[in-house]
Amino acid sequence: MSTRNEHHMVPLSVLLKREVTSEKIEKPDIVHGQASQSKKGEDFTLLKTECQRIPGDGNSTFSVFGIFDGHNGSAAAIYTKENLLNNIVGAIPTELSRDEWLAALPRALVAGFVKTDKDLQEKAKTSGTTVTFVIIDGWVVTVASVGDSRCILESAEGAVYSLSADHRLECNEEERDRVTASGGEVGRLNIVGGAQIGPLRCWPGGLCLSRSIGDMDVGEFIVPVPYVKQVKLSTAGGRLIISSDGVWDALSSETALNCCRGMPADAAAEQIVKEALHLKGLRDDTTCIVVDILPVEKLIPSVPPPKKQGKGVFKAMFKKKSSESSSHAEYSEPDVVEEIFEEGSAMLAERLDTEYPLCNMFKLFMCAVCQVDMKPKEGISVHSGSSNIGKLRSWDGPFLCSSCQAKKEAMEGKKLPRDGRSRNSSGSD
Ligand SMILES: [Zn+2]
Repeated sequence: MSTRNEHHMVPLSVLLKREVTSEKIEKPDIVHGQASQSKKGEDFTLLKTECQRIPGDGNSTFSVFGIFDGHNGSAAAIYTKENLLNNIVGAIPTELSRDEWLAALPRALVAGFVKTDKDLQEKAKTSGTTVTFVIIDGWVVTVASVGDSRCILESAEGAVYSLSADHRLECNEEERDRVTASGGEVGRLNIVGGAQIGPLRCWPGGLCLSRSIGDMDVGEFIVPVPYVKQVKLSTAGGRLIISSDGVWDALSSETALNCCRGMPADAAAEQIVKEALHLKGLRDDTTCIVVDILPVEKLIPSVPPPKKQGKGVFKAMFKKKSSESSSHAEYSEPDVVEEIFEEGSAMLAERLDTEYPLCNMFKLFMCAVCQVDMKPKEGISVHSGSSNIGKLRSWDGPFLCSSCQAKKEAMEGKKLPRDGRSRNSSGSD
């Protein structure tokens, strides 16, 4: 073959192989381990590494890791572990490109969490659960959370990021205000003699959390709408620690990361649980998942270089994704974790309306939450009844079925709370 023609004659098979190879290089190795010490038997985990975005396509795999810390029994945690992923995937249109799929995820997570909560309530389960749900596709990590389990990330260069919200009433003023405005009462438990003890709880119900899945006997303002954060790691990778509050009540993020430094994921998870128990004893279910996101063929995590920041300092600033990034290549820092998406509002209208570059996310005749088919004109706009719709019109989508619309209004406090346990009875945690 003459060299002159080489440029024009790359066989298709070679081009395809190049594509497959570059796809492979793009994907990190995911190595995970988990450990747990049970006190109440209400912590559950989900670990799935070979999920397929496109059924039958081995190149479209993603991984899912979840912790479900149940309260008032384990039914809600088990139900959520078994149904949440399907409800999330069911809210994403089929035949999307990978980029579109990733862009659709934050909204699908909201729909999946709310549908799971709604389905669970129809089964009249009074237990509840926290959820910290992590989806890893390539170098993109998407985390959705309700409650007080937590997910932290340490990037390969040693910066620490929090990828979940803390929905404990005790430490989240914004959520206390929302619950109060929606008709709930926030206060401590009254004991005989009028003294108040314990953490801040929400009444009726006595829950310490402002968000959860389940909890049918608590006001609807305890919502299942998750905080969602999506970040892209550099190809140097990083380590995730996903743990229930049994770990975080005993260990700071730095302590958790430092106590298992250099260990492979399974030994690291064991060490973190051991460390938590050593400091506080077995006072609660204590569960930990460690996930290493590693450059291919680098299966043992390297010891990160000396920190660029002081110990205990959370990296608050992410590199913001910029639409002009391609024209500012000289500023690109390969080892920086890039924030793609962050939203924590409890308002469904704000969460379902995010502008994705996908017209088919807004199917006219399908409920945006439960995906049920609706007849024309049956759907109710998520903006209907909103006092501050701005440029949005009440006939704009996305649309909800009447049942999900009723759920939305209840979550916004537009319905009287059910009769629940009073503030003077013993509360739950
Ligand atoms: Zn619906």
